[in-house]
Amino acid sequence: MPAASPDNSLSIINGLISEFYKSATDLAPERIAEREFGVGNFEIKISQRHMSFRNERDLKEYLSTNAVPYVSSSSAFYKFPSGRPMEKKGWLGSELVFDLDVTDMDLPCQLRHGKSWVCSICLDEVRKETIKLVYDFLIPDFGFSEKEIKVNFSGNRGYHVHVDNKDMLMLDAAARREVTGYISGSGIEFADLFPTAGRRGEKLVGPSAKEKGWRGKIAKNFLSNLNAGVDSLMRMGIEKPIASKLWRSKGLVQMGIENGNWDMVYIKNKADFWKGIIDRQAVSQSDKIDRNVTNDPTHLIRLANSIHGGSGLIARKLKAPGALYGFDPMKEAIAFRKGYVKIDAHTGYELVMMGQKYGPYAGEIKVPTYVGAYLYLKGKARIINFI
Ligand SMILES: [Zn+2]
Repeated sequence: MPAASPDNSLSIINGLISEFYKSATDLAPERIAEREFGVGNFEIKISQRHMSFRNERDLKEYLSTNAVPYVSSSSAFYKFPSGRPMEKKGWLGSELVFDLDVTDMDLPCQLRHGKSWVCSICLDEVRKETIKLVYDFLIPDFGFSEKEIKVNFSGNRGYHVHVDNKDMLMLDAAARREVTGYISGSGIEFADLFPTAGRRGEKLVGPSAKEKGWRGKIAKNFLSNLNAGVDSLMRMGIEKPIASKLWRSKGLVQMGIENGNWDMVYIKNKADFWKGIIDRQAVSQSDKIDRNVTNDPTHLIRLANSIHGGSGLIARKLKAPGALYGFDPMKEAIAFRKGYVKIDAHTGYELVMMGQKYGPYAGEIKVPTYVGAYLYLKGKARIINFI
């Protein structure tokens, strides 16, 4: 949240937001007239809800006139979207939505810059998590097509994924909890995966890399760490002597696990050993999704292609989920592209926007308008004037 100060910053930002919405495109979600909207101010992201708009023109006019810094719309469709209380809206179904945010992840870079700052590594890691959600879960395990999956940058430090599939629409909160439970890997039991574990003299039989769902994921993930080398195995929590042993017999171990045989090299207390590895893996492979967002069919989520009032970036809609592979929000989600501003900035870290490095700063400096807006909205600068 930007600091309150008797300066021009806020009126400059309000002007930029208002201008942005005058010419904004592709802002109306599908079935706009059946969605509930919520808007916020710089203090509260949703300060008013139960709103509705008949069409994109009305929405744009409202957002522009009021220079709205945060706008969200429902994943739900309603007969009467502005009806209240909720029961009076006449629920018609909800898209399945996922919210991935880097603040829900634990990254080494965050120890350095804290969770309120977002660096290129943060953005890259949350992008990879989103790819994992789409391409390791939603498409192979749930059978959705790429066409049914809509992805947008959240506008700050994450991504939103909307699944528009007829069979999902009517799922209630309990069914949505099952979806997030599956993706989070809850209920994965070592004893189910390795039925012979702990039986004296028996071969350790487990999931094979050829299987679908979590079983295949666990086997494949182990093999990819095995192929990456000893360090990678050690990062899974394997002690060096065993990691080295596995690495030396890599070909044999791989052949075994591809076929569900986890017993190709001798490991002391093998059942306990593999249980430790598998338990940690299920946690690290499960997606960093905000379950509350997915589980609640009435949740309001940032409107795609709208402005995020905490960054001045656009919650940019991606053309297709595959665009995630090369997406750089610090290039493709930039708003406020016109001109330069003079700012008084105090930043501890460098910022990369449009491929250029900015900062760290300690004083007055001329920067592109989008850089000034970003630093102001992160509470790191005040905007003095346009130049
Ligand atoms: Zn970071």
